[in-house]
Amino acid sequence: MADLLVVGGAGYIGSHMVKWLADAGHRVVVFDNLSTGHADAARFGALVVGDLANPDQLRALFAAHRFDAVLHLAAASLVTESVQNPAKYYRNNVSNTLNLLDAMREHGVMKLVFSSTAAIYGEPQTERIREDHPQRPINPYGRSKWMVEQILADYDTAYGIHSVCLRYFNAAGAEPDGLLGERHQPETHLIPLVLQAASGRRPHITVFGRDYDTPDGSCLRDYIHVQDLCSAHALALDFLTREQRSTAFNLGNGDGFSVLEVIEVARSVTGHEIPVMYAERRSGDPARLIADASRAHQLLGWQPRYPNLADLIAHAWQFEQQQAA
Ligand code: UDP
Repeated sequence: MADLLVVGGAGYIGSHMVKWLADAGHRVVVFDNLSTGHADAARFGALVVGDLANPDQLRALFAAHRFDAVLHLAAASLVTESVQNPAKYYRNNVSNTLNLLDAMREHGVMKLVFSSTAAIYGEPQTERIREDHPQRPINPYGRSKWMVEQILADYDTAYGIHSVCLRYFNAAGAEPDGLLGERHQPETHLIPLVLQAASGRRPHITVFGRDYDTPDGSCLRDYIHVQDLCSAHALALDFLTREQRSTAFNLGNGDGFSVLEVIEVARSVTGHEIPVMYAERRSGDPARLIADASRAHQLLGWQPRYPNLADLIAHAWQFEQQQAA
């Protein structure tokens, strides 16, 4: 059993993470400013409401608890917003992470699992992206995460903080028992929006761009179940205990689905009509992002439990039906 701090544990992925760790028998403290998260989603841990921008609150948190490791999932994560408001992204994602790292150093907490992203790669030059693919992010969100990855490498060399950067592809799905799911306000992500169109909470789904260089002209993404992200974080904690070094892993299934294919799978899972409209490309979106996650398979022993898109959408649909009720 470990004492763990989950920063951003009231958010979508963070809340699933807290439940996963609590179910595995760990003691979990959640630190979250509730700017996008929900207090009730953090109910499987002990919630401390506070802000990474406030060093005094961080000092108090680390003084009150002893942590074996930190999982840092707090960030602004919308590509379009990051293009429009980069200041928010560099402040939240980079400068606030420095505050967290300072608090960890001051209190001798030397292990970190960091939520990174496929957006650090930019436009892919290979069919599937490996960790050593060139890193040329094409939006401020990706650049902010890339910067933190560089900082973490330097912090390992200088201060001995070991970190695992987990580069998520497209996180989606929900806790299979229906206890947690994706609840962004406003929602911008494809799968919840498609399911809101299926349940009638929205009139249609808008497909952004139909002229990409892909088989059907819509963007290809690698959708990875949120529970599979959780298992990877747990394995990353084991890695940090075992290996005493820093590294990064891609987390995806290695399959690309187009926006139109996602909508088709959602029609078949839900049995509902999903009206489609088309709009211009969304700025900052690469045409395709598909993971080669063999490094995580080999070094972490990670195997996704829900690699099938229909299972992932079925879990998200169960959660959407509760929300729509
Ligand atoms: N997308 C879309 N309509 C929407 C929301 C998203 O066509 O209403 C597309 C988006 O352009 C991208 C894919 O769906 O190609 C996944 O977008 P999402 O926002 O879910 O995740 P991101 O790839 O930005 O992390």
